[in-house]
Amino acid sequence: MALLPILEFPDPRLRTVAKPVTEVDDKIRKLVDDMFDTMYDAPGIGLAASQVNVHKRVVVIDVSEDKSQPMVFINPEIEVLDAELCEYDEGCLSVPGFYETVVRPGHIRVRALDRDGIPFEIDPQGVLAVCIQHELDHLNGKLFVDHISPFKRTRIRAKLEKKHKAEAR
Ligand SMILES: [Zn+2]
Repeated sequence: MALLPILEFPDPRLRTVAKPVTEVDDKIRKLVDDMFDTMYDAPGIGLAASQVNVHKRVVVIDVSEDKSQPMVFINPEIEVLDAELCEYDEGCLSVPGFYETVVRPGHIRVRALDRDGIPFEIDPQGVLAVCIQHELDHLNGKLFVDHISPFKRTRIRAKLEKKHKAEAR
């Protein structure tokens, strides 16, 4: 088991656009396993490689109550299936302690590679659809705080900067 340090907003490294995985090999599978350990330990329901400072298009998610449904998305691509939007209070391991309402499409199609490099496709709705979009944002250097008002974003940034300063002392 390996826990990876999680970057926190406003760390500029979180703005890096992740590169596609060219081959799903043992190195990627080790990254996936470490990301699950890190996510479950935090605890969280999703983690993008960008958050652990690995800028590859890898996401792990488990939205189940009992942490029994680990899902891996490598090189994920999404398509909106229904224009209807859904509101959800989002949090993020890179923005610890803050939750804000974000509006996103509620029904999407996702195509990705699994842990073995096999392509698959799912049409999630609700919390899983939201979570995948949140994690895909990370791979594109975006955070959920980019979806909220600049006023709220600035306030969160100031509070986290204060916390990081206190931790560095
Ligand atoms: Zn996040």
